[in-house]
Amino acid sequence: MVVASQFNEGVAMSKHYDLIAIGAGSGGLSVAERAASYGAKTAVVEMSKLGGTCVNIGCVPKKVMWFGANLAHALRDASGYGFDISVNGFDWGKLVEAREGYIKGINDWYVTYLEDNKVDLIRGEAGFIDANTLEVAGERYTADRIVISPGGKPIVPDIPGAELGITSDGFFELTEQPKEVVVVGAGYIAVELAGVMAALGSNVSLLLRGQHLLKEFDAMLGECLMDEMIDQGINIMPNVQIEAVEQAEDGSLTLKCASGITRTGVDKLIWATGRRPYTDNLNLQAADVEVDSKGFIPTDKFQRTNVKGVYALGDATGRAALTPVAIAAGRRLADRIYNNMTNRHLDYDNIPTVVFSHPPIGTVGLSEDAARDMHGDAVKVYSARFTAMYNAFTEHKTKTAMKLVCVGGEEKVVGVHIIGPASDEMLQGFAVAVKMGATKADFDNTIAIHPTSSEELVTMR
Ligand code: FAD
Ligand code: NDP
Repeated sequence: MVVASQFNEGVAMSKHYDLIAIGAGSGGLSVAERAASYGAKTAVVEMSKLGGTCVNIGCVPKKVMWFGANLAHALRDASGYGFDISVNGFDWGKLVEAREGYIKGINDWYVTYLEDNKVDLIRGEAGFIDANTLEVAGERYTADRIVISPGGKPIVPDIPGAELGITSDGFFELTEQPKEVVVVGAGYIAVELAGVMAALGSNVSLLLRGQHLLKEFDAMLGECLMDEMIDQGINIMPNVQIEAVEQAEDGSLTLKCASGITRTGVDKLIWATGRRPYTDNLNLQAADVEVDSKGFIPTDKFQRTNVKGVYALGDATGRAALTPVAIAAGRRLADRIYNNMTNRHLDYDNIPTVVFSHPPIGTVGLSEDAARDMHGDAVKVYSARFTAMYNAFTEHKTKTAMKLVCVGGEEKVVGVHIIGPASDEMLQGFAVAVKMGATKADFDNTIAIHPTSSEELVTMR
């Protein structure tokens, strides 16, 4: 591997590649590595840490915090199993230090990974000069193909004092645990961060502009999660919109809301109000690359933009902003271009996803409402609600709920929706079945694994 910006320092020169990926995140790293494996001369440009959002300020640090929160729940549950435990405290700073050390290990590993895979790393911020030329830190690089994979950034509402709050990026910078926290939003990040902080001991309020959590998913999931979060002591405030944020003399925040509610004494306000594509400094117009009204880069099923030789991947394309999606799209793109797999592309249907809430959610396919809109009376739904055996002994009785959405006489399973302990690990195999077109009879013909929660999914009547 050549770290091109160091290699070329101070020298005005152009270096030509078969493929350059902008962004060493999930998408960029995957397309570059796969292309290089077929012998393409490849580089990846990165202006920040290797690994992108997922590794540095997304999936990985989030999952570490989620594991910590799970332990907090387990400690509370332990007395039900006969343990007499006294917890002497929780050191947020220690967990954060360990987490960041782990991430540093991944960042360093990527340097060797690129080296081993013969992918050049160009350090700096890339901007287009034309459809085949990028400028990075004053140097020009040309390529037959350029893949745009710059990811996204959090959106912060445009209201007075909004900058006094933080986003998920700021959450991962916290070295001390905030006591009074307000999280705004009802999506993935809002419920995940609220769940983690509540479990670890913060007082958490979750402000929703509407009435529902996770409204993109089957309604059962948001409803059950809301009940659980309320049970865990999270103060859920529906139909509230903040109009202004002010800082009091003691440093705490005051939130002034549209409904006349004023909330004082807030240590941290966290905006979890969606993400936008990070295309700000790419100078896309120099390459004539089109964006939609929200700045996302439209692509066809082969990840092609409107410009020949320019492709886009991952969060910046506005479809299923998930790490495995960016990775799969990147690998398929390289397979198609450099390995003669002429029709290879990512099918964006039936993408499974897990929300790392407490308890977690696993979901794939159509929600009941979406299925009814598409298939009307041909839809049949099977559902179950129960307390898992683990929770029979715990003081807090977490509920598990499951739903199968089936369509037609053959009862093809078009949606699987689960909330409850271990849903995160339950879903992957069921997603294979849905992707293969399994029917309810296929589920029923599969012998249950006992005693588990997932056995309910193959024994529903
Ligand atoms: P990114 O990973 O964001 O990578 C883009 C890279 O491009 C960045 O490193 C950036 O610095 C770089 N870049 C941008 N512009 C330029 C430029 N002009 N020049 C050079 N470099 C540039 N997904 C899951 O599947 N599971 C999860 O549990 C999960 N949890 C998440 C939790 C949080 C808090 C967040 C924010 C996201 C989470 N995601 C999760 C989503 C996941 O992180 C993204 O879908 C994934 O990282 C997208 O990959 P990408 O390649 O499109 O972009
Ligand atoms: P989401 O799209 O999931 O949710 C955004 C939320 O912001 C919605 O609930 C929306 O409310 C709310 N919102 C928007 N504007 C406002 C406002 N002005 N005031 C109050 N609420 C507002 O986005 P996230 O930022 O949570 O996550 C971004 C993406 O990252 C996800 O879609 C997912 O693809 C990925 N991700 C994946 C994770 C995983 O795989 N576990 C974890 C984290 C992120 P409303 O519902 O009313 O529209």
